[in-house]
Amino acid sequence: MPELPDLEAYRSYFNRRVVGVTIEEATVLIPLVVRAPKEEFVAALRGNAFGPIGRRGKFLLFPLERGDYTLAVHSMLTGRFQYCPPEQKRRAKTCFVLALGDGHELRYFDGRLMGKVYLVRGGDFSGVPRYLEMGPEPLAEELTEEAFRARLRRFRGQIKSVLLNETCVAGIGNAYADEILFVAGLHPYRKRTELSPEDEERLYRAIRSVLSEAAAMVAERMERDGLPVEEYRDFLKVHRRGGQPCPNCGASITEITAGQRITNFCRHCQR
Ligand SMILES: [Zn+2]
Repeated sequence: MPELPDLEAYRSYFNRRVVGVTIEEATVLIPLVVRAPKEEFVAALRGNAFGPIGRRGKFLLFPLERGDYTLAVHSMLTGRFQYCPPEQKRRAKTCFVLALGDGHELRYFDGRLMGKVYLVRGGDFSGVPRYLEMGPEPLAEELTEEAFRARLRRFRGQIKSVLLNETCVAGIGNAYADEILFVAGLHPYRKRTELSPEDEERLYRAIRSVLSEAAAMVAERMERDGLPVEEYRDFLKVHRRGGQPCPNCGASITEITAGQRITNFCRHCQR
């Protein structure tokens, strides 16, 4: 699932390419993922152009220059983009295609069709489930260490679950929660209520450093190697590295699968 660093990379990728470019045609191929009447979606996009692309939590936001519309895309697990010449073969489960005036197509495909695309009018996101309940952006300047601590204290339960709860902070998913907790030296199943002020401080710093470093790394990879089908994740230290040696201490990285979720951590480094 694309998380904050991946989405930040998409944002800069698209900002360099599609802003101000006329959308000559919009075609909806799989209406299921588009949470707006097909005709309204096409009418809003055709002949329009995107303004600067934004992001909020795990939503990519494509504002349109005219009509006061924003396309809000939550790609869930498998929603991905293609920006390519029209003759390039379309992927299976391509949901919509925008023919752009620069000779490219911007396509959205989603193998499991779990993602959702909303057409938001007049900046009113109340029709987008869970959007308005999202907590602050973890990299926002306003989220000082003090603000973060105050926020954290509203939540109980295991610290990994707290990080994944978007009403606490937005944009962190399973992969980066593991990475953040590894850098902070915190066991993912520790209770939030058991964290000391020092633990909270390390957690805050880890959130900022892990996400911002990853965002820069992914953006560089995207520019070099193109839009991914699977996220660029080979630089992660513990996530999906069960059984491999911990980069800090060399002990074998633990892997626990609960439900659909894999959690990786080092029992030695994370207490
Ligand atoms: Zn270790």
